[in-house]
Amino acid sequence: MDLSFSAEEEAFRHELRSWLGANVGALAGVEFESLEEEVRVLVAWQKRLHGGGWVGVHWPRQYGGRGATTVENYILQEEMARAQAPEIIGRIGINLVGPTLIAHGTEEQKVRHLPNILAANEIWCQLFSEPNAGSDLASLRCRAERDGDWFIVNGQKTWTSYAQFADWGILLARTDPAASKSRGISFLIVDMKSPGITVRPLRQMTGSEEFNEVFLEDVRVPAANLVGELDAGWQIAQTTLSHERGTSPRQLVIHRILLDALLLLALETRRGDGPAAADPIVRQKIAAIFTEVEIFKLHNWRTLTQVRRHGKPGPESSLVKLFWSEMSQRLHDAAMEILGGDGLYWHGDPRAAWNGRWMRSYQYYRAATIFAGTSEVQRNIIAQRVLGLPRD
Ligand SMILES: Cc1cc2nc3c(=O)[nH]c(=O)nc-3n(C[C@H](O)[C@H](O)[C@H](O)COP(=O)(O)OP(=O)(O)OC[C@H]3O[C@@H](n4cnc5c(N)ncnc54)[C@H](O)[C@@H]3O)c2cc1C
Repeated sequence: MDLSFSAEEEAFRHELRSWLGANVGALAGVEFESLEEEVRVLVAWQKRLHGGGWVGVHWPRQYGGRGATTVENYILQEEMARAQAPEIIGRIGINLVGPTLIAHGTEEQKVRHLPNILAANEIWCQLFSEPNAGSDLASLRCRAERDGDWFIVNGQKTWTSYAQFADWGILLARTDPAASKSRGISFLIVDMKSPGITVRPLRQMTGSEEFNEVFLEDVRVPAANLVGELDAGWQIAQTTLSHERGTSPRQLVIHRILLDALLLLALETRRGDGPAAADPIVRQKIAAIFTEVEIFKLHNWRTLTQVRRHGKPGPESSLVKLFWSEMSQRLHDAAMEILGGDGLYWHGDPRAAWNGRWMRSYQYYRAATIFAGTSEVQRNIIAQRVLGLPRD
């Protein structure tokens, strides 16, 4: 087994690390007062990254990428997290929409959209989930009816991240209601400023309003915005969804940072006559989490090897998603146990440890076992497709 990076990969890392060292500056670990401010600052940050040639590095050169390898893209995410650089705002466009259009879009669609995705000139959202279609996405009910050169779309989408800031959305809609579940679905590009679209933000327990309900009423979508064949959207959506899972270098680095913070918390928090770190139960929990973060690193490397050999992560990537999302919740549970009632102090309260970051992070990571496929769904995939167990 060779766990080292090649000379070219190390050179890539070195070039990027120098660039980040010169450019991240005050954005390292930055926290924003509002979502609007976050979007404004992060659009500027993506433009800067793009200027340096660091956006969409894994896209082919002909579409504005660097044609970077999966390992180089892994290194990029790892280095960004290490530099505590903010995550890019256009990640739905870069990670999901771009690769889908490159694989299935028309030349016009690619020319129109890909450069604007890279340069953060336009922000995208993913209009897949509905109130009664999440894990069972194929039961979606949003309708698109053909009317000459148009589709007329009616329905409701939900949990649509960043829809309130989005210029464009990728939408799954039923175009043949008579066909069985996953058949008769088409994949459309929708202008989010079209008449008939109402975006209603949903307030999360973090206080933020990152995701939204989206109502579509007689929305006219040009037929030219169909991606791939009519009624073949389910297969195209699989391309999009396959890019949601895989390795998680960013989460790996973030969890190393969180682990250091947890250790510091245990040393600084008083429990009885000494620090919480002197409590054998706290010590055991921290040791267990340290071990889990190391295992997570190996899961990432194994998936990376899989992608290198076979070009895609395969169903084992469900192990990575399941593992890190549940590990994360255990880490935050340990922090909350150490903090006790003090964990309830919010950002801005002088009594809040780490400026309230523990509570916010604790609440944020509750969603990790839901988005990109819930833990139960990942376990089903592992049972059926990795272990070969029967369906029922
Ligand atoms: C922070 C966040 C951001 C999101 N952003 C987007 C976005 O931008 N665009 C978008 O389209 N969607 C988005 N989603 C939606 C996400 O994809 C869904 O929440 C997810 O697929 C689960 O669907 P659901 O919420 O409808 O839950 P359901 O599917 O209704 O599940 C409810 C419960 O039943 C369990 N369950 C369901 N089916 C099975 C089964 N077969 N076996 C065992 N248990 C099962 C689930 O595990 C879960 O515990 C986001 C979600 C979150 C939390």
